[in-house]
Amino acid sequence: MRTQRQVVDYSLRKRAVLRELLAGRVGTYDVCDASPYLKNAARFHGEPTDERCPICRSENLIHVHYIYGDELKQSAGQARTLAELPVLAMTLREFQVFVVEVCLGCDWNHLVEQYLLGRDGLAEAGSEGDAVGGDVSGTVRRRREAQR
Ligand SMILES: [Zn+2]
Repeated sequence: MRTQRQVVDYSLRKRAVLRELLAGRVGTYDVCDASPYLKNAARFHGEPTDERCPICRSENLIHVHYIYGDELKQSAGQARTLAELPVLAMTLREFQVFVVEVCLGCDWNHLVEQYLLGRDGLAEAGSEGDAVGGDVSGTVRRRREAQR
């Protein structure tokens, strides 16, 4: 999505967890602990991926998108489908998205990335908004002052 901003990528942390697992420093029961809520969210709101689960290698990973932000009120912390995010991004100023990968085969789960979405980003990209309006009136004022 082109309006994504302040993206934080957690793939390094994921690789570190997988290394720990291979080295035997953590067990699969430590990392394959998806809650029933997370698995339900994956089933009903998840986005299937082509990526194999790094643990069981029998299922493809599912991405779950959780949304957070004051403007969301009671919807904060809920999972949304990927298709719903652009609609929310047009109506809200700013909200946080957390993407979690889940395997329904072995319950592996890990944070993939987080980013901000919302109309605030569109204004920065140069579309119409308060900032543009303010700039135009400022130009007009400067012209008037110059005529005096
Ligand atoms: Zn798995």
